[in-house]
Amino acid sequence: MNEYLLETVCLTKTYGHQRAVDDLSLHVPKGSIYGLIGRNGAGKTTFMKMIAGLAKPTSGEIRLFGTDAEDSIGQNRIGALIEAPGIYGDMTAFDNMRLKAVATGVYHRGKINELLALVGLSDTGHKKAGQFSLGMKQRLGIAMSLIGTPDLLILDEPINGLDPVGVIEIRELIEKLSREYEMTVIISSHILDELARIATHYGIINEGKLVRELSKEELLDQCAECVEIRSDAVKEVCLALEEMGYAAYEVCDSATVRVPNCCDRVGEINMTLARRGILLRGISVRQESLEEFFVNLTGGAGENHE
Ligand code: ATP
Repeated sequence: MNEYLLETVCLTKTYGHQRAVDDLSLHVPKGSIYGLIGRNGAGKTTFMKMIAGLAKPTSGEIRLFGTDAEDSIGQNRIGALIEAPGIYGDMTAFDNMRLKAVATGVYHRGKINELLALVGLSDTGHKKAGQFSLGMKQRLGIAMSLIGTPDLLILDEPINGLDPVGVIEIRELIEKLSREYEMTVIISSHILDELARIATHYGIINEGKLVRELSKEELLDQCAECVEIRSDAVKEVCLALEEMGYAAYEVCDSATVRVPNCCDRVGEINMTLARRGILLRGISVRQESLEEFFVNLTGGAGENHE
């Protein structure tokens, strides 16, 4: 049986000569919270639109539960909040939900109330959605995308522009959907640190292409602590490390060596190097941040805030 809820095979979308999504083969495990990371313009929205059936792929395949996703479109198996939520500002939360439910053909008053409670909007009464905070609008948008009880929820940059409280509310909601409703969620962001708290899997894309796909554990491994030794005598440092049994060191540049998984032995390493007369510029424990890892992978100097 296929372990992936969603799998794409060489998915491509071109606009004119531009390949917005370029040969993308992603694997989203059932029940995962899949963080799709890429800088502005990397192709996240285009990818999500194709999955949600809002844009037609130029080529490639989308497989949902191991079958062609075309069979699932119209069956409410996918809920999506892409770009601005389609909310009518002069209507209440309930009426917005009702409109969407009727349009989807699944109107049920109890279900709407249940979803409004789930996203924390039960008590908004007669308040018009236009008066909601950005966070409330996002939560209403998520509730609307849950109307068909989808298996897969797609959220495009849902925390963009939210204040810290709003970010926490959305994060907790996504965790709840995953934990209590066993929903598979794909969530995009251009800031890895924001997703790091909730995502169980990651797909890193750059200029439409997949750079790396990895699980949370693999990501944490990548960003594990290491001892960083700075010295002009890198060769001698490496020799000494090998003799001490630390063969997994990495020479980062002509004056920097990093040694993973030995942070508890930094003192001992320091002493040994000193005893050998190796002059150091510095020795310290450091951890690559998620953001550094992302920037290194996508070959840039930070995100491009447009
Ligand atoms: P952002 O975080 O800025 O939304 P993104 O990763 O979601 O970026 P996309 O919106 O998918 O990226 O855009 C990928 C590329 O495709 C961009 O260069 C964009 O200009 C281009 N593009 C997207 N939609 C269209 C369209 N309808 N027509 C032409 N080009 C498009």
